[in-house]
Amino acid sequence: ADQPDPDPSKKTLVILGTGWGSVSLLKKLDTENYNVVVISPRNYFLFTPLLPSCTTGTIEHRSIMEPIRNFLRHKKAAVKYYEAEATKVDYEKKVVYINDESEIKGDVSATEVPFDMLVVGVGAENATFGIPGVREHGLFLKEVGDAQRIRKRIMDCCETAIFKDQDPEEVKRLLHMVVVGGGPTGVEFAGELQDFFNDDLKKWIPDIKENFNVTLVEALPNVLPMFSKQLIEYTEKTFKEETIKIRTKTMVKRVTDKFIEAESTGPDGKKQLERIPYGLLVWATGNALRPVVKDLMSQIPAQKDSRRGLAVNEYLVVKGTENIWAVGDCAVANYAPTAQVAAQEGSFLARLFNQMAKTEQIEEELKKLSTAQEKAPSKDDRDRVFANIKDLQKRLRRVKQMGPFEYSHQGSLAYIGSEKAVADISWLTGNFATGGTLTYFFWRSAYLSMCFSTRNRVLVLVDWVKAKVFGRDVSRE
Ligand code: FAD
Ligand code: NAD
Repeated sequence: ADQPDPDPSKKTLVILGTGWGSVSLLKKLDTENYNVVVISPRNYFLFTPLLPSCTTGTIEHRSIMEPIRNFLRHKKAAVKYYEAEATKVDYEKKVVYINDESEIKGDVSATEVPFDMLVVGVGAENATFGIPGVREHGLFLKEVGDAQRIRKRIMDCCETAIFKDQDPEEVKRLLHMVVVGGGPTGVEFAGELQDFFNDDLKKWIPDIKENFNVTLVEALPNVLPMFSKQLIEYTEKTFKEETIKIRTKTMVKRVTDKFIEAESTGPDGKKQLERIPYGLLVWATGNALRPVVKDLMSQIPAQKDSRRGLAVNEYLVVKGTENIWAVGDCAVANYAPTAQVAAQEGSFLARLFNQMAKTEQIEEELKKLSTAQEKAPSKDDRDRVFANIKDLQKRLRRVKQMGPFEYSHQGSLAYIGSEKAVADISWLTGNFATGGTLTYFFWRSAYLSMCFSTRNRVLVLVDWVKAKVFGRDVSRE
């Protein structure tokens, strides 16, 4: 349905971001109740769990993107979408400042959007802890562009390594693929990369066979800290078999264009500084606050002590405000920053907003009825209206009875390479940890069923078959 101008009788609900949190809110939101405006620099939703597979071409990136327009065109009332970055939220003025950061800019590329209600779902940035050289020389793995850059760099390193007359030390450096951060992002990427080498690269480019190495560097004593001990051991054992080197208790301190400098702690507790040459460096050390979130926090006194993001209450209201909510990685609600949490928070907000609209509707009707009651000519009429009022009040109480947000953990799942996955799954009967090939099939079908649209499901399935039958594409785009 078309709805060109905002309806003055409705509140304006502005939603920032098109990630897990915001999109799951949009999916369930009854858009007829508000003037809904979505602002995000990305006009698509990205299915992040399969992003590591895009770095090697197991999956093509477009298969895990879903245009935001696809979600919006199915809504009952039109939703406005602006492809822009929110650069600042003015809390007092109830305005969001937005900037078109895309390549093509019109005469107007910066403006402001007023809001009555605001949902912040802008996710997080890549943490670098201010370590020098990371931004200049490392590659991240968060967005589609990142995966494309990694894919290109892998091929570039391989082709450059076998350039005529290349020095043996330089060959080794170029073919050393270093991943920093042993969280699930680093582990999944390392697994995918080693698969790529085992399944395809060494067949297509046999000259790199002897020198291609993947190393995973982690500051803590073990990788995958959120998984159970048994699965950590299973992952470390699998990596050893796959010949992925794990360097734990190794903290990267500095990055140059050709090597990283890391401090490692030996078994005797002695620390030593070493240089590790690399060709490809993927940096996956977790999340940091986005500037727009940091700035908003600085405007709200109640956020003074929050470090990791917008502190929210059990209804996801940003503490210290009444009309701002936060979901996903930019919100701090005592859950891990995962897609699972963000998606559940988004659908909770949709229910909350649908319910708030219903409440207002009933309250409006109640107001009308009480005037009607006062003006009613006879006692009978008054009694009739009174009965209606009672009914509505009952309905109101029922509608208002919405409990706070409660996260239901479905389990953690990570792909670790060579067709193996690890899973900590909490089903009805408690916890259950598993690893291996069966888990991998479970992993694949779980992701397929989670993939947003049928279209995405088909595309991902076709990519998997293509990669299996023809091998991954090794051309450098
Ligand atoms: P995001 O999904 O990051 O979305 C943020 C949105 O905000 C984006 O649309 C972005 O363009 C937009 N935005 C950014 N800046 C602005 C701005 N200034 N103004 C407006 N919009 C802005 N979690 C799991 O549970 N399971 C997994 O298997 C899993 N695998 C992962 C694999 C990888 C490689 C990565 C990187 C993450 C993975 N995660 C996984 C974590 C999960 O992706 C995040 O927790 C989740 O994306 C958080 O959702 P979000 O909505 O907060 O943010
Ligand atoms: P993370 O925060 O989980 O892990 C980062 C790791 O980097 C930590 O173990 C940390 O000790 C290490 N590190 C930090 N600084 C370092 C340094 N200087 N040198 C060496 N190591 C250093 O980050 P992530 O893996 O990007 O994950 C981010 C979030 O996304 C997490 O909540 C995670 O659960 C979620 N995620 C989930 C999945 C999945 O469920 N399959 C996949 C990817 C991401």
